[in-house]
Amino acid sequence: MPLSIHWRLTIGVAVALLVTLAVVFVTLRIALGQMMEADLGRDLTRDAGLVSAHVAILGSLDDREQLQEIVDSFSLGERGSAFMVVIRDTDGRILAATSGLAEGDFGLREDEVARVLEGATIKQTAELGDGDQVRLRTSRLTIGRDVVGIVQVAEDADFIGRALGRLQTVLLLVGLGGLVLAPLIGYWLARGTARPLQEVIRVAAEIEASDLSRRLGTREGPAEVRRLAETFDAMLERLEAAFQQQRDFVLDMSHELRTPLTVLRGNLDVMLLPEAGLDGETRASLERMSNEVERLIRLTENLLYLHHAEAGRDLGRRPVELDALCLEIYRQTKDLRTDVDFHLGNEDQVTVVGDRDLLKQMLLNLVDNSLKYTPAGGEVVLSLYREDARARLEVRDTGPGIEPEKVPLIFKRFYRGNSKVKGGAGIGLAITDWIVKAHGGEIQVASEPGKGSVFTVTLPLESSAQLEPSAT
Ligand code: ADP
Repeated sequence: MPLSIHWRLTIGVAVALLVTLAVVFVTLRIALGQMMEADLGRDLTRDAGLVSAHVAILGSLDDREQLQEIVDSFSLGERGSAFMVVIRDTDGRILAATSGLAEGDFGLREDEVARVLEGATIKQTAELGDGDQVRLRTSRLTIGRDVVGIVQVAEDADFIGRALGRLQTVLLLVGLGGLVLAPLIGYWLARGTARPLQEVIRVAAEIEASDLSRRLGTREGPAEVRRLAETFDAMLERLEAAFQQQRDFVLDMSHELRTPLTVLRGNLDVMLLPEAGLDGETRASLERMSNEVERLIRLTENLLYLHHAEAGRDLGRRPVELDALCLEIYRQTKDLRTDVDFHLGNEDQVTVVGDRDLLKQMLLNLVDNSLKYTPAGGEVVLSLYREDARARLEVRDTGPGIEPEKVPLIFKRFYRGNSKVKGGAGIGLAITDWIVKAHGGEIQVASEPGKGSVFTVTLPLESSAQLEPSAT
């Protein structure tokens, strides 16, 4: 599964933070080390200069005691302490040195002596006998223009290592803190960015589930998210307008069609009266016409109910005798298919509370489907049972059945599973489902492909509290 924006941002921000911390730490450590080294170098140069100046005042290197005094005044404590000085003659022999320094400390080779006397300054890291590291600066001593000897100044360099070590410890601790904090900060920042998006997703999902009149509204959040919300709202606006147009059209057309179809049915009914004395063939053809007109009327009615379902129409709540309704349906539809054995099965006496027109439409849709899809020679049975607190209607057929994966689809609007069979628009079961649910009932399908289907509708029985005065 692809990572969500939230997690991508969290990881991205955390990695960026950690890399930045690491770069800052390394740079800091290097810069500080270099600064301290440079400082040390400057100290040594300055002190060497001062020692030279004092020696110059003496005028020569002959007075060892005076030399030792100068050395002592510059030395801080003993050998190994912070600051050490050695004065040598031009042969490299020690004339005065910080107390405690051994003969071999800061030793100079002959070539080094020669180079220094020529004017070179040797800067090096030297190690005292006990392992202490010092920075050593060796340069010549001059009095006036004469080169009279060599001065060596040294400063303990361990403190740089110690200071850098301490810095490293501090940086490591901060780094560890950063390791914990970085993902948290990343998570927090990412949440700030992802939240408005999640809000948009949530509202968009709700809109899908409810109606198109809802809008996301311009919400707080980054500019892109606001633009997304605005674009989405504009799209909803267009969609709503298009759907409304479509609904208006369907409503207008079904109204327009209903009147002529009802007139047609009335005329056909009159023509089919026994008194009309029609010959067999004409009667059969008129009956077929009548059946088709019935179906068309049912279709226009389904379209009207579709509109009601969307508009949230209030149901009529009156007692409806389902057994009488079943009989009515049977009479109305028995002639639709003469090549199918259609009959009533078990018929208990049951009354429910509801909208008679809608309940009739529901049964008509179910029976019409069974008659429509069942092949010649098949059987369709309409049964009604009274159970504890429910009425159970059952339409059983020996039709082609419905594949299990298609069962959830058949109740969706405009879904047609069997397009070879003419005379459907894919809304019958959607309307049926709406009617059943509006009555607080349930609809179920048990079907075996190739063998047939059983559509079962259960409805709660009448409850006097819900009754409206019955219309006679
Ligand atoms: P239609 O106008 O296509 O009949 P419906 O909403 O009434 O629309 O039914 C949807 C689909 O469910 C049908 O196209 C058909 O594939 C399937 N169906 C409905 N009733 C039956 C049945 N009794 N036997 C087999 N398939 C059925």
